[in-house]
Amino acid sequence: MRSGGRKGRRTALMVRVASERIADLFALAEREAAGGSPTLADRYVRLARTIGMRYNVRLLPEYAELYCRGCSRYWVEGRTVRTRLRSGARVRTCLGCGRERRVPYRLRRKVSPASPAAALKGLRQPEVGWLGTARTPEGGDGAALGPQGR
Ligand SMILES: [Zn+2]
Repeated sequence: MRSGGRKGRRTALMVRVASERIADLFALAEREAAGGSPTLADRYVRLARTIGMRYNVRLLPEYAELYCRGCSRYWVEGRTVRTRLRSGARVRTCLGCGRERRVPYRLRRKVSPASPAAALKGLRQPEVGWLGTARTPEGGDGAALGPQGR
């Protein structure tokens, strides 16, 4: 008998069970990272990856965003990962091992050129209004001088 026993065909059932198991583990990791033990969260991620490798199940793309591929750390924004926008990509740096993951984001042409101008317009209008109200007392003084005359 060969030791290990991992070789051989993966049946469809095995694959399905494995991917369900992975989903469960990521759900558990999320819960632990939120309120429980971050160490446990990391361990669930590592387990999920091991299962994925063993059964040739690729982790879903949405899971890839959740952990570090370098050290299997479960990523919590601001705690175990830092996200910065750099030249058209979202760069996520793992605070555990320093590994970077670049996620290019799609530029939406309709939104990006229009929004800065709109933002400027929005800023100018309140400024004018504020200056106008600030001048009112001065205007009042000037008007008071008027009737007194000389
Ligand atoms: Zn890492």
